[in-house]
Amino acid sequence: MPLTELIIDGFKSFADKTTIHFNQGITGIVGPNGSGKSNITEALRWVMGESRIKSLRGDNMKDVIFAGSQFRKPMNRAEVTLIFDNRDRQLKFDSDQVAVTRRLLRSGDSEYLINKQQVRQKDVRELFLDSGLSQNSLAIISQGRVDQILNSKPEDRRFIFEEAAGVLHFKNQKESAANQLAKTSDNLIRINDIVKELE
Ligand code: ATP
Repeated sequence: MPLTELIIDGFKSFADKTTIHFNQGITGIVGPNGSGKSNITEALRWVMGESRIKSLRGDNMKDVIFAGSQFRKPMNRAEVTLIFDNRDRQLKFDSDQVAVTRRLLRSGDSEYLINKQQVRQKDVRELFLDSGLSQNSLAIISQGRVDQILNSKPEDRRFIFEEAAGVLHFKNQKESAANQLAKTSDNLIRINDIVKELE
């Protein structure tokens, strides 16, 4: 499931639409301090559903939209697209190429697309959940993350192993089934009370 392209448009310092091609082997991105290298990894995490604005070094989600510079007006929208070669079907989506897009307008409207079809954030997160590429996975290690992992509590560290072992998806499904079961039990209790009142 190689990542083949990252297209960044209006996200953080990327005022111009920029396409980064990932060929086979290692791709190195170099540049002076403040030139936008970290913004690239943040664009990757953002398009995969990152919703914790602090981890994107902002205060408000709209901070990811190009805010303007001395020579450029601020942009009204940020858009990032990731393109994967999915011939091995490692992403559970029946297409040889999978393009995932996230778009945010200054008005606050936002949308996710998979192969140009609008989807929910949940669908994007689920797409990546067992691929080893979810927003918390070790596939993306930002500055300071190694220290954070080493200093984290054992239960937080367990999350990393669960993700790597591919059990996170089932754990989430178990949690939502347990919630559903609890709701159904509550409903049953209420129905029993009503039946007793009517008897
Ligand atoms: P270093 O090597 O120091 O870690 P870097 O190459 O990783 O730097 P980044 O941290 O990715 O650089 O980029 C920081 C730059 O992005 C800063 O110049 C900052 O002003 C700019 N930037 C961040 N958010 C926005 C935004 N919303 N609009 C315009 N520019 C932004």
